[in-house]
Amino acid sequence: MKTINDFNFENKKALIRVDFNVPLNDKFEVTDTTRIVSAKPTIIKILEDGGSCILMSHLGRPKGVQDEFSLGHIVETVKDILGVEVIFVKACVGETAEAAAAKLEPGQILLLENLRFHAEETAGDIAFAEQLSKLGDIYVNDAFGTAHRAHASTTIVAQFFEGKKCFGTLLAQEIESIKKVLETGEKPVLAILGGAKVSSKITIIENILDAVDHLIIGGGMAFTFVKAQGGKIGNSICEDDKMELALDILKQAEAKNVKVHIPIDTIAADAFSNDANTQTVDINVIPDGWEGVDAGPKSRAQFHEVVMQCKTILWNGPLGVFEMESFAGGTIELGNSIAEATKNGAFSLVGGGDSVAAVKQFGFDDKVSYVSTGGGAMLESLEGKTLPGIAAILK
Ligand code: AMP
Repeated sequence: MKTINDFNFENKKALIRVDFNVPLNDKFEVTDTTRIVSAKPTIIKILEDGGSCILMSHLGRPKGVQDEFSLGHIVETVKDILGVEVIFVKACVGETAEAAAAKLEPGQILLLENLRFHAEETAGDIAFAEQLSKLGDIYVNDAFGTAHRAHASTTIVAQFFEGKKCFGTLLAQEIESIKKVLETGEKPVLAILGGAKVSSKITIIENILDAVDHLIIGGGMAFTFVKAQGGKIGNSICEDDKMELALDILKQAEAKNVKVHIPIDTIAADAFSNDANTQTVDINVIPDGWEGVDAGPKSRAQFHEVVMQCKTILWNGPLGVFEMESFAGGTIELGNSIAEATKNGAFSLVGGGDSVAAVKQFGFDDKVSYVSTGGGAMLESLEGKTLPGIAAILK
């Protein structure tokens, strides 16, 4: 696996696919800089080698050229975070972009305009990718968030850089973290899957059963398992058409010697609202008119014990409706347990959608080993798929 550390960038122009698809407010200010901060180590290493950086990214989902999606809006923020002047060019291919790239001196950074102003980007157009390839000497992919897309800048462009392509620091870290969970991590390995629906996580569960020793199934998806086993779940969220599959997963787990932990009790609410009435009940006897919205105290204690035994931990999906303060307790306690296990030497990876939002909201992001920057890309990796953006570098 070639990374930027395998190259000396002196006098080289690095064409870097970054993920600067950052959220902007109505004044076009960046409201979360995580993705820009995450790309910094790659950019700085290349500049320190004596190279220059040509940064390419998408922003939002524009239909053609739309100024509100211009990467021009983020130039000042990128400059502040990197501590280096950033030259912006209002094109990503063609004469203007090529002239700006040709003029670039070692130590300088050029930011190209939004790749998705061209429909060819998402279409994975080969001619467009070839035009991009003219801008740099070495191709670096550091955009995990789009590595599951076979777009021109994330995948197709790599074929024009035979022997001159590599992973940036961020993407290499993402790959290593997933590998630790699925292949090389110290045992016992634990996966915690929560969130709303079983249906969105089935492929992940089936794939990770070969890798883990323990599996915690929490959040809304636990109720499909509880009902399938004959429990009464009241008005809790459930996918009736997935009950058979749930039983099959439990059978597969048993055959593979994976210990599955399903919540024992739940906080039940009489409405899907932060100030609903609540009661704590065993998870298989939830009265009609009540729905399970968070892990109960016995479940939290049970999960804590499992987490503390494990040396490698993957966390995807909240244990309850954490967006409502009254039902965030189970997710916060789990975060605390994972933080404690991490402090004791376990490797912990948090990734995929809402669990990242939860760890950030509750301040666990620097108490776990790694927080993934890719939602869909992370989920597809856990499903066992080789992402096209990664395969294109390895080829
Ligand atoms: P996912 O995107 O599948 O990871 O699901 C995340 C969502 O699951 C969050 O918005 C949570 O509010 C929701 N969730 C977690 N537990 C429950 C529950 N017991 N009932 C309903 N929704 C839940």
